[in-house]
Amino acid sequence: MQSELTEEHRRIRDTLAAFAEREIRPFAAKWEREETFPREVMEKLGALGFLGVSFPERFGGAGADTLSQVLVVEGLARCDAAVALSCAAHVSLAAGHIGGFASEEQKQHYLPALVGAKRLGAWCLTEPGSGSDAGAMRTRASADRGDYVINGAKMFITNGNIADVYVVMAVERSEQGKGGVSAFIVERGAKGLSNGRKIEKLGLRASDTAEVIFDNVRVPAANRIGASGEGYAQTLKVLEAGRVGIAGFSLGIARAAFETAVAYARERKQFGKPIAEFQAIQWMVADIATRIDAAWLLTVRAARLKDAGLPYAREASMAKLFASETAMWASERAVQIHGGYGYISEFQVERYMRDAKLTEIGEGTSEIQRMIIAKSLLRDGYLPA
Ligand SMILES: Cc1cc2nc3c(=O)[nH]c(=O)nc-3n(C[C@H](O)[C@H](O)[C@H](O)COP(=O)(O)OP(=O)(O)OC[C@H]3O[C@@H](n4cnc5c(N)ncnc54)[C@H](O)[C@@H]3O)c2cc1C
Repeated sequence: MQSELTEEHRRIRDTLAAFAEREIRPFAAKWEREETFPREVMEKLGALGFLGVSFPERFGGAGADTLSQVLVVEGLARCDAAVALSCAAHVSLAAGHIGGFASEEQKQHYLPALVGAKRLGAWCLTEPGSGSDAGAMRTRASADRGDYVINGAKMFITNGNIADVYVVMAVERSEQGKGGVSAFIVERGAKGLSNGRKIEKLGLRASDTAEVIFDNVRVPAANRIGASGEGYAQTLKVLEAGRVGIAGFSLGIARAAFETAVAYARERKQFGKPIAEFQAIQWMVADIATRIDAAWLLTVRAARLKDAGLPYAREASMAKLFASETAMWASERAVQIHGGYGYISEFQVERYMRDAKLTEIGEGTSEIQRMIIAKSLLRDGYLPA
């Protein structure tokens, strides 16, 4: 029972779960093994309205709250974290950036197709030489006869090989540091846009991750999102919102680990009884569930603050930090509960552990979350929200 949910939340959670159990979970291991991203599933999710839950109705969304979007990403991650990650990058980062900061004309042009998953989005911030220190990016955008010409390379971009629409951060005026960064929309097919070598990963192998290279890519000036120099500030806001989503993503992996571990503990017999009857196993189960509940409540708080229009950067970082470390810890405990069977790929649980590691790295590492939280505490004091 999740008492924080309304009837509408429950409806979204349950219909998404029914879809994911039928169309995603049975194929997750195969997609991972073959490293193929099931684009058709994303298209179905778009057609059913799951990718647009929190976007305005005039762009094809449902106009629902942030918690609804959290429930979607959580429900997807519970069945296949790779699909969930690709959806999160598409929805929260690429479409979220356009929805939050683009002009009405740009929104009308791009959002309906993104929300319906007729076009796929990617969000390009990280570079080979700049990750946590995103302001040190080297990709440049030079104004040239009414266009911009973009040069540089972006690294670890989710959907980078397969996207139709890229939101790209680039330095327009280097003398202004972070205040010289602008955001641009670049479309697949633009001359000079290409991908680097294939990136092999620890987990989330069905999610596409790519290097995206910009070699004199020309985009019209009208493709800039917002005013010149606003790109870095937009990025921080996009990441703030994205972290609430990544908390939901982490919760989905943690719940999957919990459910798998409990089912196994009931079945597996040693010393003549189910291992669930051993106190050592019971304590692990109790600890996993307690951490999941705590992470869930932090996530709900961050989502509610966001929807109320209140500051929520610290709470989003707390939710992301705690939920991601919960996903990692819970999936490692779930492997332990499975013993040797947890270590082999025939059982899904080792995949949860490999997938969970990304949650402590992407959209700001755990170290960066702690920096954000501490900075806020030391500046503003500790006033519980
Ligand atoms: C599967 C995957 C998908 C991704 N998808 C995207 C995407 O769609 N778009 C995108 O733009 N990026 C994406 N990323 C990139 C991701 O956001 C970065 O990997 C992340 O921000 C960390 O940057 P980095 O890898 O350069 O690590 P670094 O910043 O080099 O960090 C290395 C280590 O140093 C620590 N560290 C750095 N600075 C500090 C500090 N000041 N104090 C203490 N410790 C510090 C970090 O916490 C980390 O432990 C993705 C990454 C992966 C793996």
